[in-house]
Amino acid sequence: MVYDVAVIGCGVIGAATAYELSHFKLNVLVLEAENDVADGTTKANSAIIHAGYDPEPNTEMARLNVEGSKLAKDICKKLDVPYKQCGSLVLAFSDDEIPRLKKLYDNGVANGVPDIRVITGDEARKMEPYLSKEVVAALYALSAAIVNPWDYALAMAETAVVNGVEIKLRSKVTAIKKQGDLFEIHTTSGVYTAKLVVNAAGVHAGEIHEMVAAPSFEMHPTSGQYYLMDRSEGGLAGSVIFQCPTKEGKGVLVAPTVHGNLIVGPDAVPCGEDDVKTTADGLDYVARMGKKSVPSVDLRASIRNFAGVRANTNKDDFIIEVVDGVHGFVDAAGIKSPGLSAAPAIAKKICSLLLAEGIEMPFKDNYKGTRKMKRFKQLSDSEKQALIRENPAYGRVICRCETITEGEILDAIRSPITPCSVDGIKRRCNAGMGRCQGGFCGPRVLDILARELGVSPLDILQDKDGTFILTGQTKKAGEGTADV
Ligand SMILES: Cc1cc2nc3c(=O)[nH]c(=O)nc-3n(C[C@H](O)[C@H](O)[C@H](O)COP(=O)(O)OP(=O)(O)OC[C@H]3O[C@@H](n4cnc5c(N)ncnc54)[C@H](O)[C@@H]3O)c2cc1C
Repeated sequence: MVYDVAVIGCGVIGAATAYELSHFKLNVLVLEAENDVADGTTKANSAIIHAGYDPEPNTEMARLNVEGSKLAKDICKKLDVPYKQCGSLVLAFSDDEIPRLKKLYDNGVANGVPDIRVITGDEARKMEPYLSKEVVAALYALSAAIVNPWDYALAMAETAVVNGVEIKLRSKVTAIKKQGDLFEIHTTSGVYTAKLVVNAAGVHAGEIHEMVAAPSFEMHPTSGQYYLMDRSEGGLAGSVIFQCPTKEGKGVLVAPTVHGNLIVGPDAVPCGEDDVKTTADGLDYVARMGKKSVPSVDLRASIRNFAGVRANTNKDDFIIEVVDGVHGFVDAAGIKSPGLSAAPAIAKKICSLLLAEGIEMPFKDNYKGTRKMKRFKQLSDSEKQALIRENPAYGRVICRCETITEGEILDAIRSPITPCSVDGIKRRCNAGMGRCQGGFCGPRVLDILARELGVSPLDILQDKDGTFILTGQTKKAGEGTADV
């Protein structure tokens, strides 16, 4: 079979591209190296849908951020993704920093960001009572929002699948050969042929680019570490609280999450492509900077630390273009922050580039454009009772911290992209996201997953391939030498 389009990578950019392409009568294939979608940078970031005042005016980043943020609101509504427009503040701690707020304000106006204004420190503290007394002024942006980035990408990927897109997991692209007008794509799951290719491989986009062309940009991966705080700290910030950005990025923020927790981070340290370790020094820095904005934040209430890797390059802007001299091959590289915010607009730009490469894109009839999730704890008592009568599995709470029922776990397992790990379940329905981080419900989720997938509990993974929970080995039981 010859696919019309092959998308390499299923982070938020690959997922948004697949979602956009799924509106058209096209055969679309998505090739993802990992065993689940959105398992790279998309699952480890600040989860902010930025208003759009950070990027320099007249850049693709500025245009796509502002457009993407608008589209995100609509997509989250249609696909039932947790999204909250909570607004954001950028803080100035001295009069010297006020010109930097003004510069951001001017950027925002030039970029077409609605509802932004510079306010005094007292006005900011009225909005955010736990804010430092040292704050002298702030830039307020009403349109900034928070989202669940996993669910956002998953929802778009699932909708693409429901509308006919094929996603092949565990399919790492290892080589690409041009055969006449077609691309022959070699992967760890086989060889696929496509007329057009989109490179959405995140921090690995440089490697994919170099499979078809000479290098035209350098990747400079940069890690960012976080504290995720218990819900007991969730009331300390109602909006996203930034400090003045520096050359390295937007600085350490303190922000609510859509699940009612608080997030503090990130730092910015050069690293390897897949280097998601956290370090004592990095976390100390994050803690210090977080406390600068919100002094009463209690870092002892941390329930998890994590790190994500920015796909920074030697170019200031996103790189979204047809590769020079390679007809039909589109790079979506250097998609650093605000890539999550810009994703749906980036996907539209990719589609317009594909269209210009000569593909026809007639709209599909009967497009299924909505998705509805059952979230037991959000239902009224009478709705809960009705659901349990319909299916008693919704009456068995498996994750006590988050009140997630067996019914929701079964829905996750039977969703359009089948999860194969305990963390895959966590991403889909939040079981294990709470205070105990799966300490209590993990074994029960493992049992349900093994039962439903018809495999041995020994074969169930925590997350990535090779993370077998019960054996602690990196290979399936009985599958050759097992190393710890
Ligand atoms: C610390 C940090 C904070 C951030 N905060 C924000 C924020 O608040 N708001 C915002 O808008 N943006 C933010 N960003 C940026 C945002 O997270 C990224 O722009 C976005 O997630 C990039 O998505 P992606 O799909 O390009 O990359 P990824 O999510 O990394 O996806 C790339 C995919 O390609 C796959 N892949 C790689 N190589 C291959 C191969 N050879 N074959 C097949 N598949 C392959 C990977 O497995 C992966 O799934 C942040 C980033 C970081 C690191």
